[in-house]
Amino acid sequence: MSEALPQVTLPGGETVPALGQGTWHMGEDRRLRAQEAASVRLGIELGMTLVDTAEMYGSGGAEEVVREAAKGLRDQLFIVSKVYPHNATTQGVIAACERSLKRLGTDRIDLYLLHWRGSVPLAQTVEGFHRLERDGKIRYHGVSNFDRRDMEEWVAAGGDGVATDQVLYNLATRGPEWDLEPWCRERGVTIMAYTPLGQGRMLARPELAEIARRRNATPAQVALAWLLRKDGVIVIPKASRAEHMRENRGALDLHLADDHLAALDRAFPPPKGRTPLGMG
Ligand code: NAP
Repeated sequence: MSEALPQVTLPGGETVPALGQGTWHMGEDRRLRAQEAASVRLGIELGMTLVDTAEMYGSGGAEEVVREAAKGLRDQLFIVSKVYPHNATTQGVIAACERSLKRLGTDRIDLYLLHWRGSVPLAQTVEGFHRLERDGKIRYHGVSNFDRRDMEEWVAAGGDGVATDQVLYNLATRGPEWDLEPWCRERGVTIMAYTPLGQGRMLARPELAEIARRRNATPAQVALAWLLRKDGVIVIPKASRAEHMRENRGALDLHLADDHLAALDRAFPPPKGRTPLGMG
């Protein structure tokens, strides 16, 4: 049984865990699938019941890993998946969603995102998402890799029910703090922070190691705790190893004091102006 973890409130009042899990690069190699599914399942059992995937990951293989991991637990899960921009016409988004539902082995996706902005007019994608919501195939819609101006255009195209913007956000990439995070907070739109560990590279930074040592924690836990302290931010580290999954869950027990936050600000300064979003 999973335990209840700190929650983030979606527009409309439903709550989801602030700490979820990602699945990029899962489902690419059949020999690793059992290990990957076991790790995602462990995460679910530890309470990280929000699982992020996409039709892109492993060409659908990651969605199959999620199905495997979720066996018998579907009602506890909040599944996030994403449509490719080239599939994001009104009819294309409906067909892509049907394919994802089949791979996920479920009748609904909880939150369905446009993976990044492509050349299809936003109004077409908005219309596709609204039809899927009306038909009960998705429960919420959102976007990914949208900066503040893209968000304004999305809303102007009719997408004012947008639940989340999933963006690259971590200690070393703080651009979203400048104007995207305030814009989202004002409107109750959640931010979903992807690549929260910098894909592991950031963890070797000595400043992070020093704070981790002082708190008897790990660099990954410090990086995650730094994001988890923010209201309205959902954090989705990916871990295909059980020991990483347990360690990431432990980040919820770490509360960073003001002097540690100040040291992190010195090592990883906040943006001084508008910065283009990074992309994973
Ligand atoms: P990440 O979560 O920052 O890092 C994942 C890497 O860190 C993996 O190599 C993992 O290793 C390792 N790791 C996990 N926990 C660790 C720990 N406690 N200590 C040391 N290393 C650890 O990077 P990400 O996968 O790019 O981002 C997370 C999720 O965000 C993705 O999986 C995906 O769902 C989503 N995402 C979305 C977009 C988008 O465009 N919307 C782009 C990128 C990512 P193991 O796997 O070996 O455990």
